[in-house]
Amino acid sequence: MTNFSTATSIAHNVASGAQSAASVVEEHLQRIGQREEEVHAFNLVTSAEARERAADLDARIARGENVGPLAGVPIALKDNMCTRGVPTTCSSKILEGWKPPYNATVVDKLFAAGAVFVGKTNLDEFAMGSSTENSAFGPTRNPLDTSRVPGGSSGGSAAAVAAGFAAVSLGSDTGGSIRQPAALCGVVGVKPTYGLVSRYGLVAFASSLDQIGPFSHSVADAALLTEIIAGHDPMDSTSIPKPAPSLVSVLGRGVEGMRIGRVADLPEGADADVLARLDAAFVALEKAGATIVDVKLPSLSYALTAYYLIAPAEASSNLARYDGVRYGNRVAANDMNTMYADTRAAGFGDEVKRRIMLGTYALSAGYYDAYYGKALKVRRLISNDFAAAYANADVILTPTSPTVAFPFGAKTDDPLTMYLCDIFTIPTNLAGHPAMSVPFGTGQANMPVGVQILAPTLGEEAMFKVAAVLESAA
Ligand code: GLN
Repeated sequence: MTNFSTATSIAHNVASGAQSAASVVEEHLQRIGQREEEVHAFNLVTSAEARERAADLDARIARGENVGPLAGVPIALKDNMCTRGVPTTCSSKILEGWKPPYNATVVDKLFAAGAVFVGKTNLDEFAMGSSTENSAFGPTRNPLDTSRVPGGSSGGSAAAVAAGFAAVSLGSDTGGSIRQPAALCGVVGVKPTYGLVSRYGLVAFASSLDQIGPFSHSVADAALLTEIIAGHDPMDSTSIPKPAPSLVSVLGRGVEGMRIGRVADLPEGADADVLARLDAAFVALEKAGATIVDVKLPSLSYALTAYYLIAPAEASSNLARYDGVRYGNRVAANDMNTMYADTRAAGFGDEVKRRIMLGTYALSAGYYDAYYGKALKVRRLISNDFAAAYANADVILTPTSPTVAFPFGAKTDDPLTMYLCDIFTIPTNLAGHPAMSVPFGTGQANMPVGVQILAPTLGEEAMFKVAAVLESAA
């Protein structure tokens, strides 16, 4: 773990008056000033707004007000979350200059909790990618080794926390985009249960898979952030009609008597250094009193194929709205159809176009049953496999990413090798389950390795208990 202050300690210090929100913000803006040019975590740094906000919080605290559980905590937001009046680009040229007229629900919740927003972070265009190399505004660099990628698609949010630009950040995870960059940058990353956190104001990629979640230095911060952003929202029809779970209070309860699943038929592809850390994690949990049980997930090896039909299919529909009329950029033309076509040709990058074409093909009349329909059946098989596995295990442990952070350009020539980065993260999105990545030592080139903890629907409590034990063992 890095030695930057956690959100928990900042909030405690600011609320008690031991530290001013203004000084906390200055400290983070200073680090941004020192390293942002090299790291490029942000599409936009909102320093003026952050300073104004911190001053306001300090004034309220001086008057004796309780400003909330995130008092003065600097937070970065992935640039696919709507912020009123502040540009939201999805790292795409097609949205350049667009300012949302409203805030995402998570933004309002963090604001109400006393957080200070420091900026909007870089991502693979429309969250499609695993390295942040697909951003229209240039890649983000891994703060731990700037010759390597930070992972993706939420690479900017992971890098912002790893570099100490923000104490915590939010990302979105459709197939691994929070957990994989968290693993590659050596921070904690959580994808909550589908429906636990409102997606109102999150720009949609694949609506049956997308979830918002936090990045942080500590498991306690991740639990705190998840609690704050979770809970029912009538503005998101997929939001679970239940109150937010209490997660900070379960940390420290240990794993005595818990059953930890080890996947006997884990798909191949993980490097030896990554598998060695996974083995070490099992040993640590056993030492802490848990029992390791073998589980089988035979359909897991089909998850990637199913995902790359389902996610592009949904994306091709969601991205139809960028037509040059309603949002952002327009390429002028004499007739409407040419205007649509020219705007989309100029506005979208190669990977986004590839997904739109894949998805349109998979959904087309003659191929719907053979591709999209079949992928949905595989999705069901994966859920059934998980249900059987969770009859014997409370949580399951796998690697987060098959490799440590790789050098720039290593996987850009062949999209399939890039897609394979998500082999261990995608199954949980298809099932709608929660999962998180916890840093657990280092592998090749001294780069961090993450261990992934998977849990059944609304199994966040068990997941966080295990995470806390792994954190102290690491
Ligand atoms: N890397 C995966 C993709 O490109 C997952 C992206 C995500 O979770 N947003 O689709």
